[in-house]
Amino acid sequence: MSNALFEVTGLCKGFDAPAGRLEILKGLQFSLNEGEFLAVVGESGSGKSTMLQIIGTLERPDSGEIHLEGRSLIAMGEAAQAEVRNRKIGFVYQAHHLIPELTAVENVSLPLLVQGMTVADAEARAMQLLERLKLAGRAKHVPARLSGGEAQRVAVARALAARPRLILADEPTGNLDEHTAGEVFDLLQQLCREERAAVVMVTHSRALAKACDRMLMLHDGVLVPA
Ligand code: ADP
Ligand code: MG
Repeated sequence: MSNALFEVTGLCKGFDAPAGRLEILKGLQFSLNEGEFLAVVGESGSGKSTMLQIIGTLERPDSGEIHLEGRSLIAMGEAAQAEVRNRKIGFVYQAHHLIPELTAVENVSLPLLVQGMTVADAEARAMQLLERLKLAGRAKHVPARLSGGEAQRVAVARALAARPRLILADEPTGNLDEHTAGEVFDLLQQLCREERAAVVMVTHSRALAKACDRMLMLHDGVLVPA
């Protein structure tokens, strides 16, 4: 095994469909160094979301290995996986999935409170991130009072709150117009760089993918240079 931050080897996953078994992932292979930003592109239905669900330990592969900081996420039990998910991995989706009743700062603080941090410390960390994402003036707003781009930036802040080593982003700008998408992406990239978090970002935007450190395409079940 290499000393990469994150390494995926021989990852396979299929689903049983009415017409027979569909092999979606047929041996994914890649590794990421600390702070590296990888874009994954590929046609709809190629298995990009399935890949992120598996590497985030939300779904099990049929075979293959995943190592984060040298530890196998496959070999460990469910409780240990949940611990890794909460402390080491941050998720961003196409929809913000913020809690509608909570303000921006409360949404960002929540994962830290769950980990046992005091309210004062959690809110200090949340405010630091919101300021960095140009959202200081929106901290007390509930999601319904935020624009699409603002809500997505709050979701980015929440994903980074616990200082994860790895961010998994599934079309994080997919619901935004091109200009707003560019702004959200730039801030995501800057913040992950500062926090030294590695990123796997699935996107349909070639322009954004080109601005990442590396681009791979998921095609016919494997990752190929794009
Ligand atoms: P993408 O994100 O690249 O659009 P997905 O990972 O969502 O692709 O889906 C890849 C393929 O796997 C699709 O054909 C989808 O229908 C199928 N698939 C995904 N999840 C399941 C599931 N839980 N059960 C059966 N088929 C699934
Ligand atoms: Mg998808």
